[in-house]
Amino acid sequence: MFKNAKQIEGTMHFLCPCGHVIRDQTDCLPYKARYVADQDYADLDRMTAEQIDNAYWDYHREMYQCQKCGRLFLEDQHSQQLLAFKPEDHDQVRALGSIRGREYKVSLEGNWYKMNETPGVLKWGDSGDLLGASERFDQWDDLQRRYFEIKDVLTRENRLRYAQLRGPSGLVDSLFVGQDE
Ligand SMILES: [Zn+2]
Repeated sequence: MFKNAKQIEGTMHFLCPCGHVIRDQTDCLPYKARYVADQDYADLDRMTAEQIDNAYWDYHREMYQCQKCGRLFLEDQHSQQLLAFKPEDHDQVRALGSIRGREYKVSLEGNWYKMNETPGVLKWGDSGDLLGASERFDQWDDLQRRYFEIKDVLTRENRLRYAQLRGPSGLVDSLFVGQDE
């Protein structure tokens, strides 16, 4: 957790000077990347796969980009705070997205929030922030039926990357396909 970030309900977020809230609450975010210092890269390069697994969090730092103003936020050397850098002469806000661009596969997430008035939320989109479509449901059966309907379509079209359904009593379905098969 960075000094200038906050945590609400277990998810990290921080405020960009432009007013946009940058959230880190799911995987595969299109505005987040990880990097290794060039000074450390040669050390990592000489490690075995197992050593790299163990050293991962020591060597990798994280960066985020504001989707509104394009500012980059880089972890400092000691991973204690995020440093902000403002774009010079462009308005590119997708600089940290996948090399696959529009070919990046779709994630599908269904959740049942007991406390809400309409507890069922189904979201799917072309990236981890699920900016695509969203539907809400009053009935658990309806959410479940729709989830598997969309999952089938995406699977048939070979566009599914990741799917997860959480019901009133926990995890119901989880599948990670990834980008290539
Ligand atoms: Zn911003």
